[in-house]
Amino acid sequence: MKGLLGSCPLGGVSYALAFPLAVTVANMLSLRSKLLKIRRIAAAPLRRQRVKRLGTQGKAPIHCLFYHRVADEHPNDWTIGRAAFEAQIDYLRSRFEIIGLDELQRRVRQCDSHRSAVAITFDDGYADNSRFALPLLMRHKIPCTYFATVQNVTSGRPFEHDIQAGQPLTPNTVEELRAAAEGGIEIGLHTRTHFDFANVDDSEVIRSEIDAAMTELSDLIGRRVRYFAFPYGLPPQLTQAAIQAVQAAGMEGFCSAFGAYNLPGRDAFHIRRFHGDPEPERFLNWLEFDQRKVRREPLISYPQESPTTLDQASAVDQSVHEQVS
Ligand SMILES: [Zn+2]
Repeated sequence: MKGLLGSCPLGGVSYALAFPLAVTVANMLSLRSKLLKIRRIAAAPLRRQRVKRLGTQGKAPIHCLFYHRVADEHPNDWTIGRAAFEAQIDYLRSRFEIIGLDELQRRVRQCDSHRSAVAITFDDGYADNSRFALPLLMRHKIPCTYFATVQNVTSGRPFEHDIQAGQPLTPNTVEELRAAAEGGIEIGLHTRTHFDFANVDDSEVIRSEIDAAMTELSDLIGRRVRYFAFPYGLPPQLTQAAIQAVQAAGMEGFCSAFGAYNLPGRDAFHIRRFHGDPEPERFLNWLEFDQRKVRREPLISYPQESPTTLDQASAVDQSVHEQVS
């Protein structure tokens, strides 16, 4: 909402009219946050019990967070301030084991998750992250997968969505990505042009955005690119054609961003993420395992190695839904 107020030109609306609107929205947000806190605290014992029970079966939920940009300047909906980010990382380090995407997938595949763990990812590739967030993670040896957009890296051109928002932020350079990889950060692919796959079935375009972009990124950083994150990451973008292209390119998995947990027993190729939300109540509510999110999760179907048919995959998803309800 901060961005809604910050980025929408007020046009003909006078300041006198806009100010009460801003105050009302702020009050609503504050009320929602208070209500969420009450519900979260009331549900805490039951949630702890549920996670413990799942943990005894090796099925404790595994969280995967996505961030975009850590900076104090030019705040927007996808930016978290330095202090807030550091506080979140401190919190995660004190409460969870922080693991990489490969270990997340192993635990999901083998139902070997006895305590909730967290994985950390970043999307897009903003230069600001190389000044604070990535050095912080490297200093603490925290695993992180950093999804970069090839064309912005090679051209230095700001992202189209930032240009349109009147906020042309600087993307990472090749040197910054190499330095991050050198420091233990895994570089993943976020397409060539921050591409929106919704309603696209042109195989040449898909090949250019996934397979060819993966090869180019791999050549740039001198390392294998193992993971892919869909720009926007919502169900309309997660098309069967694009997911199959990720599989055919030989990558190990893809990340969505519609907000979901990784539950052992489900397919591990699809890594489900939720936002590293700067709003503390929403952040904590996700981390404490709100099973309503599981019930509301959209099912993404695509051909999987195991189970071998979509029906079987749906059956596994259905049984997981029942287990945590
Ligand atoms: Zn993105």
